[in-house]
Amino acid sequence: MTQPEFIPPAKPIIGEEERRAVDAVLASGMVAQGPEVAAFEQEFGDQLVDGRTCVAVNSGTSGLHLGLLAAGIGQGDEVIVPSFTFAATANSVALTGATPVFVDIEPTNFCLDPRAVEAAITERTRAIMPVHLFGHPADMTALGEIAERHGVMLFEDAAQAHGATWNGASVGSFGTFAMFSLYPTKNMTSGEGGMVACADDETVRRVKLLRNQGMERQYANELIGLNNRMTDIHAAIGRVQLTKIGAWTATRQHNAAFLDAHLENVVVPPVAEAATHVYHQYTIRVTEDRDEVVRRLREEFQVGSGVYYPIPNHRLESLEQYAPGLDLPETERAAAEVISLPVHPSLDQSHLDRIVDAVNTVVKAGA
Ligand SMILES: *Cc1c(COP(=O)(O)O)cnc(C)c1O
Repeated sequence: MTQPEFIPPAKPIIGEEERRAVDAVLASGMVAQGPEVAAFEQEFGDQLVDGRTCVAVNSGTSGLHLGLLAAGIGQGDEVIVPSFTFAATANSVALTGATPVFVDIEPTNFCLDPRAVEAAITERTRAIMPVHLFGHPADMTALGEIAERHGVMLFEDAAQAHGATWNGASVGSFGTFAMFSLYPTKNMTSGEGGMVACADDETVRRVKLLRNQGMERQYANELIGLNNRMTDIHAAIGRVQLTKIGAWTATRQHNAAFLDAHLENVVVPPVAEAATHVYHQYTIRVTEDRDEVVRRLREEFQVGSGVYYPIPNHRLESLEQYAPGLDLPETERAAAEVISLPVHPSLDQSHLDRIVDAVNTVVKAGA
């Protein structure tokens, strides 16, 4: 019997339309930041962030970095972040000279635990930066109240959550700024890229200055800035992807609903009452030997999976300096138990059936 094709854990979809859009930019001879970027910013804001003004940059990480700098975060400041996330979240804080303060997560949705956030606030806290991890929004009601009560800012790492909502409002519409990543494995891509959604005109102005050497007028530099511009080539890809993200998200949700209904011995991802989940990842917990589960899914069923993230940020060699002796039990438990199964929009019914069969065969113990 021939083996079935491998089901990859993620699969960027880049089609003919994206290729034509890139070709048109190349043919124009104008490839750096220009009209495609401006149109992409406008369309992204209208479609995904309830009309907020967006500024495109060359990566999600740049977006966080510039958003933090624009908000005046720097040396001596503390920014509360989760440890259970991609290192870019805390890296961007550390690169401003500020201190990332790691706090624990809710066991249900893997996002910042508001009570732990409140307990971590000091007189140096300037902001709280939740991550809408795996496409599930953090509790923006509770976090917004805490930010308000303590007079600190709220930022959003929405790298994984294009189109997710909390009480009907889009993620990215809550913070002083929010960042969306456009890396190929995210829910939509521009090749590399990031989008910064801004709450007010001053944030827009400062992020735009910072991405372009601090210049608005040529050679009249107002701020010390970087070159974090997006090219029109990347924006052209992103604009095409924007026309498809709605249908892709619906397919992710459909795939997730099927897995929810058919997986037997694992904890499927809970969704908060106020949330719509966009399933960047479909993340389950297993309490038996995880490496063995991952290996058997791959070798016996050709089902790819991912472990995001096996080492929490506060245990990384690069970041542990910010967390001496810190104990985050829910973060540690999640890091030890999670497996993300394929949920991407390229799956067909036979793939979904195979994923269910694989997990139900390999994972026997109730978690
Ligand atoms: C991908 C990601 C980033 C960084 O985005 P890049 O576009 O890769 O720079 C930041 N935070 C989280 C949670 C991410 O998943």
